[in-house]
Amino acid sequence: MNEKTLKKKLDRLTVMVVIISIAILAGGSIASYFLRTMLEDALAGQMQSETEQYEININRQLDADIQTLNTLASFLSFGTMDTESFMRGLVVSREYNDFDRMGYFWKSGDGVTVTADSDIRMDVPFEVLDENVRDAVQKAWQGESAISRIYPASDGRENVFAYAVPVYAGEDVAGALVADVSTDVFAGVLEDRSVLGGQGYIHLISDTGKLLVRSEDRVVEEELDKIYDHDYISPEEQEKIQKAMKAGESCFSEFTYDNVTYQVYLDPIGVNGWYLFCVQTAQSVNGSIYRLMVNTRIITVVVLFILLIIIAYGYRMIYRSNRSLIRSAWYDPLTGAYNTARFVNEISGIVEKTREYSLAALNVRQFKFINEIFGSRQADMLLCHIKDVLDDRIRDGEYFCRSTDDMFYLFFRETDREALRKRVQDIMDDISRHAVSNNRNYQIMLYCGIVIGTDVEDVPPTVQKSMTHVRFALDTARQSMKKHIWFYDTSLHEYEKLENYVESHMHQALADREFRMFLQPKVSLETGKISGAEALVRWVPRTGQMIYPGQFIPMFENNGFCVELDLYMVEQVCARIRAWLDEGVRPVPLSVNQSKLLFYEADYIDKLKALLEEYRVPAPLITLEILEGLAMENVDALNEKIRCLREIGFRISMDDFGSGYSSLNTLANLKIDEIKFDRGFLLNLKDSAADYDRQIIIMKEIVELTKKLDISTVVEGVETAENEALIRSLGCELGQGYYYGRPVSEEEFSETYVK
Ligand code: C2E
Ligand code: MG
Ligand code: MG
Repeated sequence: MNEKTLKKKLDRLTVMVVIISIAILAGGSIASYFLRTMLEDALAGQMQSETEQYEININRQLDADIQTLNTLASFLSFGTMDTESFMRGLVVSREYNDFDRMGYFWKSGDGVTVTADSDIRMDVPFEVLDENVRDAVQKAWQGESAISRIYPASDGRENVFAYAVPVYAGEDVAGALVADVSTDVFAGVLEDRSVLGGQGYIHLISDTGKLLVRSEDRVVEEELDKIYDHDYISPEEQEKIQKAMKAGESCFSEFTYDNVTYQVYLDPIGVNGWYLFCVQTAQSVNGSIYRLMVNTRIITVVVLFILLIIIAYGYRMIYRSNRSLIRSAWYDPLTGAYNTARFVNEISGIVEKTREYSLAALNVRQFKFINEIFGSRQADMLLCHIKDVLDDRIRDGEYFCRSTDDMFYLFFRETDREALRKRVQDIMDDISRHAVSNNRNYQIMLYCGIVIGTDVEDVPPTVQKSMTHVRFALDTARQSMKKHIWFYDTSLHEYEKLENYVESHMHQALADREFRMFLQPKVSLETGKISGAEALVRWVPRTGQMIYPGQFIPMFENNGFCVELDLYMVEQVCARIRAWLDEGVRPVPLSVNQSKLLFYEADYIDKLKALLEEYRVPAPLITLEILEGLAMENVDALNEKIRCLREIGFRISMDDFGSGYSSLNTLANLKIDEIKFDRGFLLNLKDSAADYDRQIIIMKEIVELTKKLDISTVVEGVETAENEALIRSLGCELGQGYYYGRPVSEEEFSETYVK
């Protein structure tokens, strides 16, 4: 997983969580909406039925009052009573029945009235009556009981209404009995605190919205004449109410006062356009449920909010920790470049599909040296500089990584050799411009191995194979001091194949005795006779061509197999000498090459002794050839080893003398029996004519020196008679080279040289 996929996954997760949250919220809202609607419906039903109950109560009161008047009417047969008795009857009736005023009006028009303070008026003309009362009286004269509309009384009382019932004289209506009363009589009914369980209020209003009886408990505190006086009822709701009232219908409405919404039910009483205006708060009636619902909603929102915060926090945490994990898994901590895993991950898809790519490996020459001399900080800065240069030079769709130490892999979409060479050279030039430790004198040098997709052996090519090839090319570039850029090609491919073969078959080859001893004569320059031979290993596989030591010895020196092989060669040498001895011929002293690794083996000497004993071979017949490089290290320990070996009887020869740097030191410090001048000596004498005289002088002096030190001299690579003449003139003792004979199998050697 890389950063992009992590982000995608987290985004997907977040979207899911948000969707789920929204779904929960929506679900909760829908559920609470339905619950609310159900509650409100139930509440409306409750309001309706209660209001109707109040309506019945008011009607009952009105009916009772009419009934009372009717009863009085039947007693007051005015025609049979004298005026005085009749008036007294009226006064008593008013007092007992809580009417404000009572009166009687003859059908002819005039009447009498009795007021609350027992003021009796006679001959009151019909016309002075309020027109609403007149309407009721006229209805009574028609034989109907009637209730007048509300009117303001002349004595200052407001909201007064009157009852009028017919009074009969025999079969005919003689007049009308009238009683007026304030709407306050309903106050008792409406002040009942049990409206909606004590949570509602009922007002009596007229069909114009005028408040007739306003209960003491009320929502809107202000003094109102009409229910519309205040803008607590929205215009839409007002319109709705007015429409219903006009039609004489009941209706539900609502208003908001002090931020609280109240429900309203308007119910016509059926008398004079009067309406009961019932107010209740949904919250107050079902307060606990409402509170629960609201609380639940608040809690849900809060929980969701907290959840979202946690998710956002979690997102950040996961993103950050994963990002640092990803960074450590995919990036090189020092330079911030991709690491190998990420690099392989990026390129493997491309490599498997096409050969239109090339892979390069870039290394700094002497990086270890830079580290040691200039310090790790400077070395790190150089690596970061390389990363910066690569950032600049690597194009879109191309990649690079830092693998280990100073190893950088580069992936190009380029396949043209020359274009690649140019690009890599530009990169190297850019990097070389960096100054290590402000030391402008130190020139950074780089080397690079490149493989082009088409040269990768696998079908289809793999990253692994491409990397193996490129490392091989890099290794070749490292060994070559002249060419800094090496392309992996067929010859390298053959070499790589051989190397693979060597490494994977060496143990079996040794067991199968595929390593053979070849012998090359060493000839005395004085007598021209053979005075010894060098054992040289050849790998002769059962199938295939002979493999020369140059192709496997360096590898064996690296992997340690030299130790086994060299001992095997010593054994072959012993066996050969034993065979000659057994054949009764004079054995030729043999030289055998000993690698540095073997020389340092703890039981090296014991093993050699064991071989001498096993084959019963005199040690002086064997010369051990060691390399000059050995003397570079612990000279005392080396001298001690040499001393032990010489004590046993072995002769010690210093091989490849002159190819290293410590030649004279070697002579001075090591107690050896022989030196072998490297083939390079003769080659140099041929090549550099200008130095010829100087070289001759030096060589002559060395030979002189060896004589004084009792060290014999062998010259390798004698290929011509001129070579021989030259080394003879220098005073050398022995010659070895194709001029005398190439290395041959021991059988051939025995046949040719040993008689
Ligand atoms: P070396 O010990 O210096 O062996 C001499 C090399 O020079 C041999 O190569 C030999 O064939 C070659 N040579 C001899 N005369 C001439 C000549 O006139 N002209 C030219 N051009 N070459 C000549 P070879 O056999 O290929 O061995 C190469 C090296 O491999 C040896 O160099 C030695 O260092 C190493 N080697 C060979 N056999 C063994 C072994 O058994 N053990 C170890 N450790 N190294 C071995
Ligand atoms: Mg040798
Ligand atoms: Mg040599």
